[in-house]
Amino acid sequence: MKIVEGIHQVDGINGNVYLVEDGDKLILIDTGLPRNYKKMIKYIEALGRKPTDVSMIVLTHFHIDHVGSAKKMKELTNAKVAVHEFDADYVAGKKAPPKPKNLMFKALSSIVKTEPVEVDLVLKDNDKVGRLIVIHTPGHSEGSISLLDVERKVMFAGDAVRFMDDKITGPPEQFTLDMDKARNSIRKISTFDFDILLSGHGQPLMPNASQKVKDFYATLK
Ligand SMILES: [Zn+2]
Ligand SMILES: [Zn+2]
Repeated sequence: MKIVEGIHQVDGINGNVYLVEDGDKLILIDTGLPRNYKKMIKYIEALGRKPTDVSMIVLTHFHIDHVGSAKKMKELTNAKVAVHEFDADYVAGKKAPPKPKNLMFKALSSIVKTEPVEVDLVLKDNDKVGRLIVIHTPGHSEGSISLLDVERKVMFAGDAVRFMDDKITGPPEQFTLDMDKARNSIRKISTFDFDILLSGHGQPLMPNASQKVKDFYATLK
């Protein structure tokens, strides 16, 4: 579905996958679980574009519901994969990620393995990926990032903050490495000017999204 001119959410994938038009190129934000690639390719083609128009695949963090189809999408599009420096080794399979706190998920994470994908671009706070600005928003994971489309006033927040069932919430505690850092990242996000918040799960928050995130952060103190 089209969110605003130039920004789309690929339907039927969890976590959420977004497609950003950037001149004649496309930027893919996150890739959902493994085996979601067909839906992305179909969506790209329905826009009248080719998979090879995707020049960049940006991953908001290393969790499997965001990087699951990254390898396959890289193969199909020839795009570069970009990840924050603190999550890059997990995505590339060079380092085992920290174990989840919750026992059930600990067991699950030993069964469901993410297919590693080569990282082409290691990101830092304030970097630019095409038209998007990288904002380091750690806490949920060390290398969690948000991405801001300044002109379109859209913030992509990954799992740092979400809008779901009419409520703004922070990241789920059992999947989150450091809740203090996560809270601080919600504050950081709220200092930017955006009208629409697009998260890794849940629905778009609009309008006046940055003010709404600010109000939400005030309830955390
Ligand atoms: Zn996550
Ligand atoms: Zn997630």
